[in-house]
Amino acid sequence: MTRRRKIYEGKAKTLYEGPEPGTLIQHFKDDATAQNGKKHEIIDGKGVLNNRISEFVFNKLNNLGVPTHFLRRLNMREQLIKEVEIIPIEVVVRNIAAGSISKRLGLEQGTRLPRSIIEFYYKDDALGDPLISEEHITAFGWATPQELDDIMSLAVRVNDFLSGLFAGVGIQLVDFKIECGRQFEGDLMRIVVADEISPDTCRLWDAKTRKKLDKDVFREDLGDLADAYREVAQRLGILVETENALSTGPRLVE
Ligand code: UDP
Repeated sequence: MTRRRKIYEGKAKTLYEGPEPGTLIQHFKDDATAQNGKKHEIIDGKGVLNNRISEFVFNKLNNLGVPTHFLRRLNMREQLIKEVEIIPIEVVVRNIAAGSISKRLGLEQGTRLPRSIIEFYYKDDALGDPLISEEHITAFGWATPQELDDIMSLAVRVNDFLSGLFAGVGIQLVDFKIECGRQFEGDLMRIVVADEISPDTCRLWDAKTRKKLDKDVFREDLGDLADAYREVAQRLGILVETENALSTGPRLVE
């Protein structure tokens, strides 16, 4: 067996060279991090669950005509994706106040926002991913005004889709983060949704009890993170209730 070329290793995922030019393999690890990497734990089964949940969401987005980097799932922890040029911006869409917006603006967690709000953060761990405006993005050339328009319309479409998807299974979509990339096809370039969409990147609350079913369970030490993610997967119909085999998925042998 040949060793695959590692392209990039992040906190929760690793990217490997794909089988064909223009493709990559996205591998989901069990690592959970918070506070810009200061808090770190291995959560058995998290990578397997995020791989499945993200596959489910990206497949549905592709089918709706929302362009994404996702091609297909390969195995328990890996998916085949199109290679894109990642735009160094985290795009956050918020429906309900929580997390950093609550702190920054003194909004009580759980307050419904007057309308959905899009925010941008510059992806730079050393700077702690600072909040930026559209002006910074275009002035520093991280994206052109046209690309920014495309990014915002993708963000709105993803929010509409995800809000409905989760509402249908009794979950409130509080906020989420997406990353976008440039996909080149010959002379053409289009902006697509990249990275992952999972309980690592969304705030998800039970609609009735407001129980947290996302990474805040880890950030705030509220209980078993994999149990929360398993519940999301079960409600979406990705996992049947008796299916526990996910927590013992294959591990990458280094
Ligand atoms: N988020 C993310 N990655 C990040 C920062 C935020 O996926 O590096 C997600 C986070 O899970 C939440 C949303 O973006 O769903 C908004 O996060 P916020 O700005 O409130 O920051 P936090 O409170 O998570 O530090």
